[in-house]
Amino acid sequence: MSLQVTTLDGASTGLGDSTLDGFRQSVRGDVILATDPQYGAARPVWNGNIQKSPAMIVRCAGVSDVQRCIDFARTHSVLLSIRGGGHSAPGYGSNDGGMVLDMGPMKGIQVDPTGRIARVQGGVLWREFDHETQAFGLATTGGTVSNTGVAGLTLGGGLGWLMGKHGATVDNLLSADVVTADGQFRKASVAENPDLFWALRGGGGNFGAVTSFEFNLHPISQTLSGLVLWPLSQARDVLRRYRDFAATLPDEAEAYAALLTSPDGVPMVALILGYNGDLAAGESLFAPLRAFGSPAADMVAPMSYGARQVMLDQPGAIHGLHRYWRSAFTEQLSDGFLDVLIEGAHGFTSPLSALFLFHVHGAITRVPEGETAFAARRTQWDFDVIGQWEDATESARHIGWVRELWTRLEPHASATTYINHMAAEDRAETVRASYGANYQRLRELKRRWDPTNLFRVNSNIAPA
Ligand SMILES: Cc1cc2nc3c(=O)[nH]c(=O)nc-3n(C[C@H](O)[C@H](O)[C@H](O)COP(=O)(O)OP(=O)(O)OC[C@H]3O[C@@H](n4cnc5c(N)ncnc54)[C@H](O)[C@@H]3O)c2cc1C
Repeated sequence: MSLQVTTLDGASTGLGDSTLDGFRQSVRGDVILATDPQYGAARPVWNGNIQKSPAMIVRCAGVSDVQRCIDFARTHSVLLSIRGGGHSAPGYGSNDGGMVLDMGPMKGIQVDPTGRIARVQGGVLWREFDHETQAFGLATTGGTVSNTGVAGLTLGGGLGWLMGKHGATVDNLLSADVVTADGQFRKASVAENPDLFWALRGGGGNFGAVTSFEFNLHPISQTLSGLVLWPLSQARDVLRRYRDFAATLPDEAEAYAALLTSPDGVPMVALILGYNGDLAAGESLFAPLRAFGSPAADMVAPMSYGARQVMLDQPGAIHGLHRYWRSAFTEQLSDGFLDVLIEGAHGFTSPLSALFLFHVHGAITRVPEGETAFAARRTQWDFDVIGQWEDATESARHIGWVRELWTRLEPHASATTYINHMAAEDRAETVRASYGANYQRLRELKRRWDPTNLFRVNSNIAPA
């Protein structure tokens, strides 16, 4: 008997029983094959539109298991996916026929409230991170929903509510423990393996399997946060007003815009506001915007940081939703661009679909582009055309809506995209453009740390 597996170059090969048994005995966690009863629960990733069937899923119990997986995949040339939180929309946390190195069981979190440092393992989700750090009134820049993995989000850069004040997630990363393609355990920080540390801060999963991250934390507990909603008929004026307002934002404030469908099925324009500082200052900053036009609802209120972190989870970030997503950066919101966005909202094919404008400003933009691999250091918007639905039989219609709208929006975008928001069909040129002047150094470091491109199920950087 042998197990058929997909190789690194996409061919198929058989692994004999003794090879497989030896591997099983070498790891502490579960090695799950398609014939095992646990496979059905271990296989799915967050995006229900991704239905991949790996040959084996290894639920790693610790660093030693991660090393065993990497040695095994490299030795037998098995296609390898690293799964942190499993939230990648193109499904990079899985593959067809290869191995999934799943860090899901690695949930250790240690908070040092005096030193304001958190050390977390590779399988931790942001909701779990926030739960532990908020016990001490501390936080670092995470995402805008709570069920993304700390690992994948951090390695791509990390955009979130605190980026104006505290920078990208990578700007708060102090060190990482990483198993590189040769199976060796290494520490990466400004003092140890500084090149590797530079590449990990934005280079996606290209440089190794990170088993633990050490973050700087900041005091934050109360915020002023929430959505203001207007009928879609006011979207033209609201979005133009929003564009002007965004240019005036202090670091403490975040203001995102969205076109979405209200719980009672009506398309609306929304501003998603957040203030991470003195609540009275936030109230006066947002007051003119909240009074603009005739809002249908204003839900902005004092809110704990933890509550804000889960504010957007429902209904758009639930595990198992089907998602197809295109995204890019733009430095300007031209009238023409906003008009196409609004037309797109008039044509929503699903009430779960949405159009988002995430404004990137403040501390994240003041870090020089060459300081970390993450290169998106301009004041700009990350804009997202998100198709979401529940019924798999409707996929073609909703994907068609995204693709059609994207052909009209893409001409307004810059050539760069946030690495963590790329679609599987974003081409190598987009990856290159998005890393800008950092791309060549990343390719050279890829050749040094992963010369055979073992870590390739990601927004891939080919070795130089
Ligand atoms: C609904 C939704 C909301 C989002 N919101 C935000 C947001 O607000 N801000 C933001 O910045 N991003 C956001 N993202 C994007 C998110 O950052 C990426 O999807 C990210 O990759 C998720 O990380 P993960 O660990 O859950 O993913 P996974 O699917 O597990 O992995 C994604 C990639 O990271 C690599 N990887 C994962 N874990 C490790 C590890 N331990 N070591 C090495 N490589 C690893 C994988 O190989 C893969 O290439 C969002 C995505 C979705 C679907």
